[in-house]
Amino acid sequence: MRHYAGAVAIDLHTHSSASDGTEAPGVVVQRAVEAGLSTIALTDHDTTLGWEEAADAARAHGIRLVRGIEVSCSRRHQSIHLLAYLPDPSHPGLVAELARARESRDTRLDRMVGKMADDGIDITVDSVRAEVGDGATAGRPHIADALVTAGIVAHRDEAFRRFLGNESRYYVSHYAPDPVRAVELVRAAGGVPVIAHAWSATRGRVVADALVEELVSAGLLGLEVHHRDHTPEAVRHLTDLARSLDLVATGSSDYHGAGKLNRLGEHTTAPAVLEQIESLASGSVVVEP
Ligand code: AMP
Ligand code: FE
Ligand code: FE
Ligand code: ZN
Repeated sequence: MRHYAGAVAIDLHTHSSASDGTEAPGVVVQRAVEAGLSTIALTDHDTTLGWEEAADAARAHGIRLVRGIEVSCSRRHQSIHLLAYLPDPSHPGLVAELARARESRDTRLDRMVGKMADDGIDITVDSVRAEVGDGATAGRPHIADALVTAGIVAHRDEAFRRFLGNESRYYVSHYAPDPVRAVELVRAAGGVPVIAHAWSATRGRVVADALVEELVSAGLLGLEVHHRDHTPEAVRHLTDLARSLDLVATGSSDYHGAGKLNRLGEHTTAPAVLEQIESLASGSVVVEP
């Protein structure tokens, strides 16, 4: 669904093998060109590892690249995702926080795999590590991939349903900053913080209006409104909320390659919204073709 049809199609949320997407950053960019997009943001979980390769590919393929991060946050055991557009990738506070989250993700992965192995599920830490790209952010999808490789499940979704969901006995959380701290850090790094998929298809409303307001006080600048996980009711609610709090409203696919059904460009962002994001950012710039 293109909410803003026309020559300029902008998708502001994608993942590569720098985190839990299944395609290299350059391949994601190539797929974006094939999908007819003029601009994409690469927003891997807790890392800027894919930026350089994606930037080279964007220049080579003639599309614009918005460099971003999807920052994992947590409050009272609830996981919240914060998109950060155009931050300074060398900001010491942000760099340290992302490194801390990635390290904790590694330990947590080992603990989840240990619990599963103790229960007779035939996977090892090595088999899961083999699914994680060099230096990439490790996550549950990589455990899912190891289960697929071992022939235990057919695809990631089955792995999540049977073994990896938030309610699973094998679930272990990882360190992630409070969203207020994350918003402040992203702003300190000159980035534009936007709450990702505030409603979940399975968990319902993830981010309460009161928390959105609290985050606005901390410097939040936007809400992802158009997203596969949002019901029509969620879209209406978030549209109104963005309007009343003077936040930018984005739309995006949350593409993970073959790891999820989400297709590039299935939701898009208005050109005027991207212009606003660019004018609010001071940490880095859009890569131009
Ligand atoms: P983690 O960040 O390690 O807790 O894992 C969460 C990630 O798993 C999300 O970013 C999604 O990309 C992915 N994920 C969650 N549910 C599913 C699912 N049912 N199928 C495929 N990927 C999923
Ligand atoms: Fe993901
Ligand atoms: Fe997310
Ligand atoms: Zn995402």
